[in-house]
Amino acid sequence: MALQKKRVRRTIVAGVEIESAEEENLVTEAAKWYLQAKQKLLQYAIEKRKERITAPARILKDELKLPEPPHSRLPDELAQVINGVLKALKKRRTEYLRRFQDWWNKVVEVGNQHGLESYRAMKPKVEALISSVPNNPFDPTWDSDIQKRFAEVKEIWSKIRLKDSNERNFRWRYHVPPLVKPPKTPEFKLLGFDAGARVSGGGKAKTLTIKSQDGEIFLRLLLRQPGVSNHGRGSYREIWLHIILEDESRKALLLSDKVQAKFIRLRRRTDKWEAHITVEKEVSFEKPRVIYGIDIGMKDALLFCVPIFIDSQETTETASEGKKLIVVEAGQFWHRLEVEDAQWRKWQFRRSGKVKEGIKGKRMVWRILKRRRRRRREVTKHLIHQIVNALISQLQRPCAVAIERLKGLRNKPHLTDKRSQWKFHRWAYRFLLETLRYKLEWEGIMIIEVPPYGTSQTCPRCSHRDKRSRDGRRFRCTKCKFQHNADAAGAFNIAMRAVEQLQSSRDLQEVSIAESAWKILTGKPMVLKY
Ligand SMILES: [Zn+2]
Repeated sequence: MALQKKRVRRTIVAGVEIESAEEENLVTEAAKWYLQAKQKLLQYAIEKRKERITAPARILKDELKLPEPPHSRLPDELAQVINGVLKALKKRRTEYLRRFQDWWNKVVEVGNQHGLESYRAMKPKVEALISSVPNNPFDPTWDSDIQKRFAEVKEIWSKIRLKDSNERNFRWRYHVPPLVKPPKTPEFKLLGFDAGARVSGGGKAKTLTIKSQDGEIFLRLLLRQPGVSNHGRGSYREIWLHIILEDESRKALLLSDKVQAKFIRLRRRTDKWEAHITVEKEVSFEKPRVIYGIDIGMKDALLFCVPIFIDSQETTETASEGKKLIVVEAGQFWHRLEVEDAQWRKWQFRRSGKVKEGIKGKRMVWRILKRRRRRRREVTKHLIHQIVNALISQLQRPCAVAIERLKGLRNKPHLTDKRSQWKFHRWAYRFLLETLRYKLEWEGIMIIEVPPYGTSQTCPRCSHRDKRSRDGRRFRCTKCKFQHNADAAGAFNIAMRAVEQLQSSRDLQEVSIAESAWKILTGKPMVLKY
């Protein structure tokens, strides 16, 4: 029985080959036009305080004095992209302002409560900052001006905290959330196009089209030299770009008629072109027989996956076998990351030869280290993809997976540390959660997001909730004395919350869980191989 249908998307990155130098020139010319138009159009929207761009072709031609576009559809495609950027910018800035104001209100409240005077020194600066954010969130002075003022407020704030801590023995940090960095207007740097895609006939001609021929995939570009004002089809040149995908399964995905290409980005990095193809398909979720709870810890267990079976018979059977709990050990993950990272580093230094003395050598080392940071993220992404794929292959179908809803990291105290390694862990945590979400949905597995608060404080056996039950990596119930690995208990509670959510929804009221569901935890977890 299909419960629910949903359109899900994913993006495939592929290499692109252009046959002739002459064709490549035309593509580059057109991409240059596009990049310039994109920058100017965003600037125009910000200066004119527009929330949306309408009639982009006229603006580009009459107000921005750009040459004729290399394709008549490009201005419209461009406006769509710019409008998306404007919308996101507005959302982020209003959200930022709201958080800043909340923070200030909290400071005043706490200050009054404790009879503190010191924070008032900040008042004029903060008020100036708030009033300099206009009602219209596209003020051009934002980036340079506001970030300067923001840095000032931050500095005074840290002095006040120090002063109150020394003189009054009062610590602000337990009451007031840290300030966040204000969002920046994006700068576009890469050459390329963005375009809606069309796979087969009908409708208006689009700039970029995907075609397949003898199992090979091509992108068809219709372009003319920018500035040529001759309208009509005759002025276009048809350019075929060969899409290079090593991975056969992704190739099959692009060729499948169940999957539709919705959006294509063509980009040039260094001297290579690449295509980011966003594809969409419809998946139908079936009524689950098992609900998996996933707790992402990053610390002892990178993640823990615990099933709750809708059929109680199965719970008792599998609990004794005990192989249905899945764990990805954090130690092993960080170790693999180190190994792959070190290999790459060695290779980098060898390739760069003996690092020279003096400023040139320093610059080179710095460049290598910067590349290394980027590389570290690439290796992490790769490992996380492998983990999620391995996990998916272990899940019993039909199933649903419960994960925590990401809302700040307050419930993950070990990830709120400011040191740079934790910054990296925080990033990895978010990436893992996101990857789980989109990969599982793509596979037709329903995702149930649950509020994360207190999942590590509730007892799986007697449901007693107590902060003191969580004792580092162990869970010890203060009421019934049940003991277990804290990450596994957390994953179980996440699954239980999903069950409760399903029970209260109209579709799945009949979901019932055995009293003894917690017994699943008594099994020995399987360490996931990836
Ligand atoms: Zn208990």
